[in-house]
Amino acid sequence: MATSPDLSVSARTKYEPVIGLEVHVQLLTVTKIFCSCSTRFGDPPNTNVCPVCLGLPGALPVLNRKAVEYAVLAAMALNCRINETSIFARKNYFYPDLPKGYQISQYDKPLAEYGWIDVPGPKRIGITRLHLEEDAGKSLHEGFPDADQKTAIDLNRSGVPLIEIVSEPEISSPDEAYEYLTRLKEIILYTGVSDCNMEEGSLRCDANVSVRPRGQKEFGTKTEVKNVNSFRFIREALEYEIERQIEVIESGGRITQETRLYNAQEGKTYGMRSKEQAHDYRYFPEPDLLPLVVDEKRRSEIRKLLPELPEARRKRLVADYGITEYDAAVLTASKALADQFEVAAKSATNPKRVANLVQSELAGRLKAKGLSIEQSPISMKGVAQSADLVESGAISSKMLKDLYDLSFERNKDFSVVYEEEGRPQQSRDTSALEKTIDEVIASNPKQVEQYRAGKKTVAVFFVGQVMKASKGQANPQLVNELVAKKLGG
Ligand code: ADP
Ligand code: ZN
Ligand code: MG
Repeated sequence: MATSPDLSVSARTKYEPVIGLEVHVQLLTVTKIFCSCSTRFGDPPNTNVCPVCLGLPGALPVLNRKAVEYAVLAAMALNCRINETSIFARKNYFYPDLPKGYQISQYDKPLAEYGWIDVPGPKRIGITRLHLEEDAGKSLHEGFPDADQKTAIDLNRSGVPLIEIVSEPEISSPDEAYEYLTRLKEIILYTGVSDCNMEEGSLRCDANVSVRPRGQKEFGTKTEVKNVNSFRFIREALEYEIERQIEVIESGGRITQETRLYNAQEGKTYGMRSKEQAHDYRYFPEPDLLPLVVDEKRRSEIRKLLPELPEARRKRLVADYGITEYDAAVLTASKALADQFEVAAKSATNPKRVANLVQSELAGRLKAKGLSIEQSPISMKGVAQSADLVESGAISSKMLKDLYDLSFERNKDFSVVYEEEGRPQQSRDTSALEKTIDEVIASNPKQVEQYRAGKKTVAVFFVGQVMKASKGQANPQLVNELVAKKLGG
């Protein structure tokens, strides 16, 4: 990050940043929003097009019902109020990838409003609106003959359904913007309405930022940083932009309202064009589409499709399985993983051990290999099986570690490696352990007496002492058995 060394700490703390994010999310419908062309990514250019999405005169749009369902689902997951009636509007501008000369979007009556996302702090960031719109085509600058002299247009993406989610200017740091985006993406992924794949452009974010003297109520003039393709870069771009704006103001200059591009290699933003004002777009209601009505019946049908969301699920996992909040956060990284964990945990004798193993044994190995938990060779089912084997004393913790290593080496699930290794069993040579138990019994005559007098719960004391003496290495199940035997219980 190129932070200016010239900017003094006092100059930096004199100002506070104000950030608002506009996020575009592509909906996972099979067909486009106003025609039946495929939305498939990566097809040869201009093969998924028709008169509607090419913007040929006289072609009429027909709204995709699934796109509405997905947009409403996302809006509900983001705590928005759904407007019973919303209006499509034409946003007029000229650009080569926009053959109609306008984009069908929503303007003063959007599909949904007044939502929020909670970020750590805790702090609630307001969502101003969530509306439906169509995507534009794509300008290609490489990958075709004459690319050095020409720009080609691929209209496969023209008419792909998007939702735009606009936040209130309530985000007060680049870190908070990062958190907001992470949570937004997680929630959308849980609903299943988008794959949120940033490389393929199914999630795009424009970041608006301004600075103002701390304590001042009025906002400063904002700039908008566009087309940044990772959350990390958005954070960096915002950090740079905040410093830049402070420097401009501190040296007596003024911020111009403009769109800027982020160059990730240099860690700098560059002015691209002065920002359009809303009136430049000459918004007006789309005459070819009826108002969109989502009545109470439809809303309640869609509400039924809403899954348990990440935040709620984390809380429930802590309550149901007695795991830590940290474990719950790891295990809810995706809906699929959380589902797997729950199936595994329910089948395991001790769910907590399953969660602990994910933390203590799985996480480090995944990190070393640069894998996400979804790519783990050991499935949650495998973790549950291994947990049960340790729990019953069939294998030691040391053997579990070895088997996990083999799983990662061979890229095979735990159950497979366990079979391949001939179901190794922990040796039942208990002589060392018995010696420890004898010592513990010999040095605690009072407790032995209590035990023999009928106070059987004292056994717990002995097991505890033995575990301590073995530095936690002994198998508790086995210690239990042996202690009871030796005390004559
Ligand atoms: P525009 O008309 O320029 O698109 P909007 O009012 O629609 O501006 O807001 C776009 C985004 O910019 C929203 O996310 C909003 O929260 C944010 N925003 C608005 N004003 C400011 C400001 N002064 N500083 C930072 N962000 C802002
Ligand atoms: Zn089409
Ligand atoms: Mg706007």
